[in-house]
Amino acid sequence: QKSEKSEASPTSAADIPIQHTDCFIDGQWLPAASGKTFATINPATEQEIAQVAEGDAADIDLAAKAARRAFDSGDWPKMDARDRGRLMYQLADRIEAEIDSLAALETLDNGKPIRESRNVDVPLVIDVLRYYAGYADKIHGSTIPIRGNYFCYTRREPVGVAGQIIPWNFPMLMTAWKWGPALAAGCTIVMKPAEQTPLTCLRMAQLAKEVGFPDGVINVVPGFGPTAGAAVVKHPLIDKVAFTGEHRTAQVITRDSADTLKRLTFELGGKSPNVVYADADLDAAAQGAYMGLYLNQGQCCCAGSRLFVESSVHEEFMEKLTKLTNRRKLGDPFADDTEQGPQVDQNQFDKIMSYIDKGRQEGAECVSGGQRFGDRGYFVEPTIFDSVTDEMAIAQDEIFGPVLSVLKFDGSDEIIERANRTFYGLAAAIWTQDVRKAHEFAARVRAGTVWVNCYDVFDAAAPFGGFKMSGYGRELGEEGLKAYTESKTVTVAL
Ligand code: NAD
Repeated sequence: QKSEKSEASPTSAADIPIQHTDCFIDGQWLPAASGKTFATINPATEQEIAQVAEGDAADIDLAAKAARRAFDSGDWPKMDARDRGRLMYQLADRIEAEIDSLAALETLDNGKPIRESRNVDVPLVIDVLRYYAGYADKIHGSTIPIRGNYFCYTRREPVGVAGQIIPWNFPMLMTAWKWGPALAAGCTIVMKPAEQTPLTCLRMAQLAKEVGFPDGVINVVPGFGPTAGAAVVKHPLIDKVAFTGEHRTAQVITRDSADTLKRLTFELGGKSPNVVYADADLDAAAQGAYMGLYLNQGQCCCAGSRLFVESSVHEEFMEKLTKLTNRRKLGDPFADDTEQGPQVDQNQFDKIMSYIDKGRQEGAECVSGGQRFGDRGYFVEPTIFDSVTDEMAIAQDEIFGPVLSVLKFDGSDEIIERANRTFYGLAAAIWTQDVRKAHEFAARVRAGTVWVNCYDVFDAAAPFGGFKMSGYGRELGEEGLKAYTESKTVTVAL
């Protein structure tokens, strides 16, 4: 039986101090040049939390100039690399010292359960910053034995001013994934957080100021995509754009950046196959399928949203999975035992509900959930569609919500072809005791990440990103750092 919505009323804006709502440019807090503001909404209550500065091209211009000055003056890229790393460690320490208030602010603005923001999101933020802090003094080129009497070597230099545009699903973590490698490499930053969730990124900017980052190194301009975001993409003083979001937005960014030929890295969406063989540990696989889809209200780019189950164990597996799903506790994201909060906003809620309708119309069988939860906030019941076929919209489109599509399969040849039958290629997982099946799948599936007998295992050291329309480039690990450097070849006649 599905749990009832918690009695405790969701924490309101009044309970959590909102300290920063302006643009953070050149170390200063400034209202938008236009004077405009927009509301950020608490998705659990549908009430306004605060009005936030609505930055646009004028504010991005100020931020880009500040970032350019900080880069060209050498304050940041030429700072002793170990000191740069030390400032990054200090930022991580400050975040750790404020972990409870940052987690509360994240939950307020995004709706994710406090136990996740406190125990998953913010700890991962700290970890990523520390991981890249350790890299700051370990970025170097190589010596190359070229033909002739020359000494040839490469230098790895920062790419310059990095424009960074992020979505709302992991607001702080996406900020850290972007800041970590950029700062370690010696880049300066113009960041545009998502309009739904600007508050924690702004708080992080203040903490960076307090630990002593030079003015202009980090600039944050809240605002909307087509105005502030597009201005980042088009600005001639910005050298690179790192973007996480939808592939359609990435297509616009690719076109908009053509005039300035910016370096681009994209982390985009997915419709990731999660494959359960009959020989798998079915309890572990059910748990993996459950977490792999419902984590973060299903708002994960790598959500295992196409669950393929081998026909012979389908019935047994579905029993385990629906049992887990029906026990999921929805409600006030500030309650310690809440497992699922609201979707981030009305748009996402409407989109998800329309896919649930579509699934029913297409003839899939809704075996769990399928309704709005409660009458306030953007809550959607964890939903399972069984008897889904490959052509259905719910098997092809990224829903970005708590809606799982279950498909049956028989045998290895079939499943690899079907797993790859999507224009996405972000993640994939396989559950089996047979090491040959696991490795064959890992080699043949077209995805940037493959999990074997696990799901959603992330580490700051392990690169993450997409094949096909799921992106270009990788974030995290050493590969993530390379995306923020240029290689310079120096040849000296001897
Ligand atoms: P979105 O593309 O609409 O928005 C993302 C960001 O881009 C926001 O800050 C938005 O303001 C900005 N933006 C919008 N239009 C723009 C434009 N024309 N120019 C510049 N910037 C613009 O995506 P969304 O719906 O907010 O986020 C969900 C998507 O993000 C999903 O597709 C999800 O899979 C993807 N995602 C991918 C990863 C990953 O690492 N691969 C991680 C998280 C989310």
